[in-house]
Amino acid sequence: MTRLLIIGPPGSGKGTQAVHIARHFRIPTVSTGEIFRTNVSQETPLGLEAAKYLDDGAFVPDQLTNALVKDRLLDADLQPGFLLDGYPRTAPQVMELDNMLASRGHRLDAVVELRAPDSELEQRMLQRAKEQGRKDDTIEVFRRRLDLYHRETHEVVAVYSGRGMVVSVDGSGDPGAITTRAIAAVEKFLGVTP
Ligand code: ADP
Repeated sequence: MTRLLIIGPPGSGKGTQAVHIARHFRIPTVSTGEIFRTNVSQETPLGLEAAKYLDDGAFVPDQLTNALVKDRLLDADLQPGFLLDGYPRTAPQVMELDNMLASRGHRLDAVVELRAPDSELEQRMLQRAKEQGRKDDTIEVFRRRLDLYHRETHEVVAVYSGRGMVVSVDGSGDPGAITTRAIAAVEKFLGVTP
């Protein structure tokens, strides 16, 4: 049973790495960004509400995000474990997740922090904008998201660092090499012998 969280700045390849790491540990990923984007494209009530924030590169309000995750964590497919991608992202969300997990006698096993220099993140984002055309991939929105990451999410990493749960991974360079590094680091941390 493995419960993981992956944190990384926009453009760090967090979503891609999440998929590979989760596959390795045979657990599903829960990506709040993905869930929001799906709802936006399907124009659900949640999507209509979330779109205002996503398009601006702002965080969706905690209340909405927490309720969404709380619901999702009850699903049967997540009982054997999961990899959270993009949640928690603020200090209040950390507390909420603590409560959600504790109420079922669970806790996170490790937090993977992807690190990469801002200049590389910006380059990658511009590339992704060309390839995928995500609406929040403009330079202005990207800078806002990066700034928000540094201001808010930094605190999340600090909380988990204080608990000795953070596995920092160099997120620059080749995506395949990053996956290998990340998996090796998590297994070492969890005491899994390959
Ligand atoms: P990235 O990591 O590239 O910023 P994500 O796919 O994780 O992208 O998130 C995209 C957007 O979805 C965020 O900019 C934000 O608007 C919203 N979002 C995702 N997760 C959260 C969260 N935990 N709290 C608030 N907003 C969120």
